[in-house]
Amino acid sequence: MPAAADHLPLTLFDSLPDQTPPPPSTDLPRLLRVREVYAEPAALASPRGQQVLARFPDAEVVEVPSHWQIPELHGNAGNVERWVRVKSEVLVLGVKKSLTARENGRSTNWIAPSTSNGCAMACAYCYVPRRKGYANPITVFTNIEQITGYLRRHVARQGVKPEPDQCDPLAWVYDLGENSDCSVDALVSDNVADLVALFRTLPTAKASFATKFVNRQLLELDPAGRTRVRFSLMPHDDAKLLDVRTSPIAERIAAMDDFVEAGYEVHVNFSPVVLRQGWEADWTTLLQQLDDELSEATKAQAAVEVIMLTHNADLHTVNLGWHPKAEDALWRPDLQQPKRSQNGQLNVRYRNDVKRAGVQRLQELIDQHAPWLRVRYAF
Ligand code: SF4
Repeated sequence: MPAAADHLPLTLFDSLPDQTPPPPSTDLPRLLRVREVYAEPAALASPRGQQVLARFPDAEVVEVPSHWQIPELHGNAGNVERWVRVKSEVLVLGVKKSLTARENGRSTNWIAPSTSNGCAMACAYCYVPRRKGYANPITVFTNIEQITGYLRRHVARQGVKPEPDQCDPLAWVYDLGENSDCSVDALVSDNVADLVALFRTLPTAKASFATKFVNRQLLELDPAGRTRVRFSLMPHDDAKLLDVRTSPIAERIAAMDDFVEAGYEVHVNFSPVVLRQGWEADWTTLLQQLDDELSEATKAQAAVEVIMLTHNADLHTVNLGWHPKAEDALWRPDLQQPKRSQNGQLNVRYRNDVKRAGVQRLQELIDQHAPWLRVRYAF
């Protein structure tokens, strides 16, 4: 499949994944060269806010009344150069006001209150930017003690999990990264380290986050089996086209054994699964690569979530402006049906019959090429 390079502005060339695995990286400079920090006064004054500032000593600080409303940052739907620059050069510091754990039940039992929002990467199918507009740089929530205190009390209230479910046989599982990528967040502050440390002390609960970035600094933490990292995987050609600014698939796979050795539970997300010409052959190659490269220890504890692509009409329009080749793969009216989301957005997903057949075929491929890989759920 052709690469997207001929459609991308120069600022993105260095971020397109390569087929050969690069050396291990914690490449803060590639993703973030922060020049401006927009901060709520209380966030700025907090120890965590000061910690973030100390990591970016040359950044100019701009005080703002609310992290939610910074008109000069959010938006920029049609201007990818602008929003990738904002993602690279800007951070926001805010205070998380409402602390609630939302019930989930699919991937995890609960969605934990966010400790950040926004992402420095730019996947073409990403739903995270929709609320703030496409620039959506990382906002770090600095009241980490309040958030960890809330989580500790929430876990205590649940007691012991009464019976196994698709999230985990024993532990209540809390998703940490609904609106961000925790591996990148950990480059910016110690919020993720604090959460990993918290769950190490909670024998009835487990943290969980999906990631598309390899941050080897996380290997230095001590998760003691209480944090699950879900590496998101797709065939190399799909990632090269769609996963802009992320770590290459080969690097993600190469990291999995190391994360298991460091005490993480390591699962994978096949997400999103994009149905296109040749998808079965490319997923076969990916599954064979997992089978060839992963250690027996990693395989023994692995499981997968399979999530078929959901797309969105507004995002389709934006992407046509900067990355039309991605839309050749993502926008398939011949295969998709509309679905109005709870917040009124017009989403599209594969027609029921197409989706059913796709899930079934992928399950067959897993059974054939990676039979050790337990499917936690597929939809
Ligand atoms: S890594 Fe996740 S949060 Fe970041 S752009 Fe990609 S899909 Fe969105």
